[in-house]
Amino acid sequence: MRVEFYKHNLGEEEKKKVLEVLDGLFLTTGKYVEEFEKKFAEYLGGEFVVGVSSCTAALHLALILHNIGKGDEVITTPLTFIATANAVLHTGAKPIFADVEPETGLIDSERIEASITSRTKAIIPVHLYGMMADMKRIRTIADRFKLKIIEDSAHCIEGEREGIRAGELGDMACFSFYATKSITSGEGGAVTVHDKNEKDKLYKLRSHGMSKEAYGRYEERYRHWDMEILGWKYNMYNIQAALLLNQLKNIEKHWIKREEISQKYEQAFRGIKDIKLLKIPPDSKSARHLFTILVPPRKRDSILWKLQRKNIGVAVNYRPIHLLRYYRETYGYRRGIFPFSEQIGDSTITLPLYSKMTYGQVDYVIKMVKQVIKE
Ligand SMILES: *Cc1c(COP(=O)(O)O)cnc(C)c1O
Repeated sequence: MRVEFYKHNLGEEEKKKVLEVLDGLFLTTGKYVEEFEKKFAEYLGGEFVVGVSSCTAALHLALILHNIGKGDEVITTPLTFIATANAVLHTGAKPIFADVEPETGLIDSERIEASITSRTKAIIPVHLYGMMADMKRIRTIADRFKLKIIEDSAHCIEGEREGIRAGELGDMACFSFYATKSITSGEGGAVTVHDKNEKDKLYKLRSHGMSKEAYGRYEERYRHWDMEILGWKYNMYNIQAALLLNQLKNIEKHWIKREEISQKYEQAFRGIKDIKLLKIPPDSKSARHLFTILVPPRKRDSILWKLQRKNIGVAVNYRPIHLLRYYRETYGYRRGIFPFSEQIGDSTITLPLYSKMTYGQVDYVIKMVKQVIKE
């Protein structure tokens, strides 16, 4: 038996839609992107969505939109993919890490508050593995200190907490459609905003700061475009949107399957010696993006290798950012400063979780994990 780490759900419908784009005139940003932005906003129950080339680009533009740059500080979690903190570095600002809650792995709102200085401009909570950070408390803190909230929602399209969805309480939320995310176009991203002027500014920021993108220019009598602000080349294009549109229709169906698999894993691993599971916060629906187990740090890597040898795709999400070489050397971070992130980073293993998994494969993963953990 072989169980890949991830398999996407793209099929005939997506192929048809992509061919439709190829048979048309516009490969770049156009009506498919517009349709995706509208449908994604509807799905999230939010106001506006802007399609971009990646979640990293979304995070970068979100910070730029709020004029965050050199001399500013942005608080985020060390237990995330490097994109979260790198986007802050791209603006010239400094990422300030606040440790996570040991039971959930989510950024601890009390530590956010303790990390605020006069230079703090924004908070980037990460909805890790699909579980939403405590957005109500983080919103309260942000309001008190007049900070912006940019949600890193790369793991959390379907989730909610206390009735709150991604992008609802944050000023913006950033999504990823990277190859292993729950809906994917290989590469791609999106950012939500509540305000139409901000949406219009993001349209410019994703396309070099031009007054009109190509599609807008095509629609009307020729007018010269101008470059109004400094922007980037971050636009989503029609082929990406064509890949995403149909997946949006099936998003709940695939979530239900991941929820079932996750529950099977939880039942199987609960009470097993040497396996711990993170807790989903109360009154939450996890988007069930990743399923992780925590094992004793001294055994973690050997368990990873053994599972690999059993043909099971595994990953580590994540070794905390402050211990990666660039961050250590640039900022002098050492082990011990964010103990809970380090603890999880040292003991975590991510197991396969996607709706194309068969229950036979799920049982195989469970059996093999139980077997190698005893060795
Ligand atoms: C995947 C991921 C990103 C980056 O997404 P890209 O679309 O690849 O730029 C950012 N944050 C988290 C938490 C991620 O998992």
